[in-house]
Amino acid sequence: MISAVKHSFKHLQAVLILSFIVVACGLCSCRSVPVTGRSQFLLTTESYENSLGAESYEEYKQEYPVSTNAEYNAALERCGNAIKAVANDLGETDDFEWEFTVLDSEIKNAFCLPGGKVAVYSGIMDDMANEAELAFVVGHEIGHAIARHGGERMSRTIVQTLGAVLVSVIFENETLDAIYGTGTEIGIMLPYSRSNESEADMIGLILMARAGYDPSASYTFWKRFTNDAEGENWVDTILSTHPCDSDRIQAMEENEPAAREEYNRAPTKYGFGKTFTHKK
Ligand SMILES: [Zn+2]
Repeated sequence: MISAVKHSFKHLQAVLILSFIVVACGLCSCRSVPVTGRSQFLLTTESYENSLGAESYEEYKQEYPVSTNAEYNAALERCGNAIKAVANDLGETDDFEWEFTVLDSEIKNAFCLPGGKVAVYSGIMDDMANEAELAFVVGHEIGHAIARHGGERMSRTIVQTLGAVLVSVIFENETLDAIYGTGTEIGIMLPYSRSNESEADMIGLILMARAGYDPSASYTFWKRFTNDAEGENWVDTILSTHPCDSDRIQAMEENEPAAREEYNRAPTKYGFGKTFTHKK
């Protein structure tokens, strides 16, 4: 009798979770990513993602001082405005409240939070040769925001978690739980991160070219980045969130002709922009 009650309770739990997944899928939006045209699945709303982005951006600005390096600030303002203009032309940024900030820190990283909140650490700018390299990094980060990779990741995590609960409720078997956890992490979440990087590269390349920056700066930067003899910081910081390998650099080189056509059509051309002197 007790086992029959337990069994029907388990059944009810599974039905409830499955119903939640069905309702959630009904509420979700399927969207086409600008530039690449990939279809994506989202359970989160853009306004929710943007509010998280704005909140988190304020925390970063409290944690790190804004850089006083005039050269870096002027370069980010110039290339940020140019890329913002061509990103707005894609028609996906109506609710963005753009901000561009150079944060004073040795950290070699940059990000664009949902809603257009861009930050570049002075540490990564110390390793850039010119403004066009900055334009690619900024374009890449904005690519993540326009493609709503943050929302997509949250959506997948929700589905992954519900799946784990479902496996656990139905099978009550720890080995299966572990197989499910590892399988989804390796099979879904990790390749998904790599595909995010490739997609952000593609969008970044097109944006920098349309904004009038020479697209070849995309791979000169990354080649130096990965070949840097003292590159441990790179591995620890940006490469942990932006895995970069020879395949990725090769893809940038292969995509350059398409980006160059965009560059040739750009009404204003900055070429490689200002060369950085790196004077503090
Ligand atoms: Zn990235």
